[in-house]
Order: sequence, then C-alpha cells, then structure tokens
Amino acid sequence: MRFRSSTFLVLVLMLLTASLAAGQQPQTAAASKTRIVLSGTGNPGPDPDRSGPATAIVVNDTAYLVDFGPGVVRRASAAFPDKGIKPLEPTKLRIAFVTHLHSDHTVGYSDLIFTPWTIGRRVPLEVYGPKGLRAMTEHLLEAYRVDIETRTNADGNQRGFPEGHNVNAHEISPGVVYKDANVTVTAFATKHAMESYDYRFDTSDRSIVISGDTNPAQETIDACRGCDVLIHEANTPAWLATRPDTFQRFAAKYHTTTTQLAELARQAKPRLLILYHYSGLSREELFDDMLAHYAGPFVIGRDLDVY
Ligand SMILES: [Zn+2]
Ligand SMILES: [Zn+2]
Repeated sequence: MRFRSSTFLVLVLMLLTASLAAGQQPQTAAASKTRIVLSGTGNPGPDPDRSGPATAIVVNDTAYLVDFGPGVVRRASAAFPDKGIKPLEPTKLRIAFVTHLHSDHTVGYSDLIFTPWTIGRRVPLEVYGPKGLRAMTEHLLEAYRVDIETRTNADGNQRGFPEGHNVNAHEISPGVVYKDANVTVTAFATKHAMESYDYRFDTSDRSIVISGDTNPAQETIDACRGCDVLIHEANTPAWLATRPDTFQRFAAKYHTTTTQLAELARQAKPRLLILYHYSGLSREELFDDMLAHYAGPFVIGRDLDVY
C-alpha cells in the first residue's frame, strides 16, 4: 500500500513548515554525517516488504544495529549496493544492541553471527542487551557446533579467520552502555513483557532514540527530550479492535497505541518522529490516525528508508 500523493504533500509541507519555523534548513540524511537506515520495520507476520525489526545507525565507517529480526543481514546488505551505504556491507556488521529478547527481534541473531563470518568477517561480534543475552548466545553457538567445527578444521574454508563467528555478549543495565569515537549509547528501561530497553545514540551531529517494544514510558520521554529523531512502535486502536482479546490485553500493558504515541511525542518533542514496528488497518489508516492526533513532524517508516 502506498501513500496518496495528497498525504505525501501534507507531510512534506509539515516537515518544511516545522523546519522553517525553527529557522533552519530541513534536516536531510545528506546534510547529516549520521544516517539512520530502517533495515526492518516489520512485525512477527512474514510480510516480504517489511523485514523484522532492525535499525542501523551509521556514523562514519561504522554501523550500529538495534535489534536483529528475521532478514536482518539481507536487508542491511541491500542498503550497500542500493543506497551506497558501505558500512552495511555484511562483513562490516560487528556491533549490535538488542532492545529485548522476544523472538521477532532476535531470530536474525544466528544470521548476524554466521552469515558475515562465512563471507569474511574476521572479528567477533559485540552485542549488548538484557539479561538472558549471554545464555541465548551460548546456546546458538552450541546449536551450530557442527558448522563451526567443519568450517574451522583442516579442510574448512574459514580456518584462516576462526574468530569471525565469536560473540562478546554484554548484559547491560540502564545508563551509558557503549562509547567510542563516533557514538555514546545510553540505555533506558522501558515497559514491556520482559526486561527491555530503548537506546539513545548521541553522535557529533544528532541524537536518536529507538523505542523497541514498550507501553508508553516516561523513560522514553526522558531519553528524547527534544532529540533529533524518535523512532517508536505504534498500533492503531482500530487495528487492535480486530485482534483476539488475549492480544488486546497484552498490548494494553506492553505496547503503544497511536493515540498514546501522539501524547508521548508531544512531551518528548522530537524534531522528527518515525513510526516503525507498526500495525494499522492499512498504511493510510495509520497515517491518517497519527495526523488526527499529532501536529508535529512524523513519517511512517519503510524498509531501507534513510534519514
Ligand atoms: Zn516484544
Ligand atoms: Zn516486537
């Protein structure tokens, strides 16, 4: 489904108006050193147009992934030839953060561990996330023991770089969890069915917050507070009304409606709100519902959009 051209126009005008009102040029990916690549905006349902949740923050020559849903390596690698974003070339994927351990955010983990290695990544993967990440990592490596042994024995074609499938799994708590010359990454506890975090990235030119799955959280507002970009999940009330009672009760505690997101964004005041990991009756219904409740600049993310 696509936007009607009229809704595109409304959105463009909104973005221009907001930027000009602030006395600045509209912020574009080209004008910014830090780029956001929506490498997966999808849900558990296997929609071929929307890969599982994964977002790449790209700074200079390094990509930082948040979540690794199904299809993560293939979708990220599509940004390399299609959009010219070299740090998303698979062998360069080496740093990732996970918001929580639900399967729709993590079934791409073995893909992220093994696919880049088989084509030449030489260094271990560094992964940050909640408690349970270390055990998940150990179990995955054990599950693929036959593959690893075969690839690294005397006949193995990865024996020249045996470290590339290793993972350093870092279990985190709220606060600064990662820092290098490009980024400082801060984790904020969120409200989901298990230990969960959103992540704020601060770079030399941008501040970006990614929600993961959560009920509206004061921590997300605190994480953003006028940030450049807030990337947040959302479901429309009309879509939720079509779901089974058990999911409606679950979503009321652990996810965010468009109405709630509008209120949260009014307090968080991002310069741009990007919806991802969303569901609506249709793309237009989702867009119109947000437009009815939120006057700030927002977009409905699509896979491989770059901001
Ligand atoms: Zn979840
Ligand atoms: Zn999810």
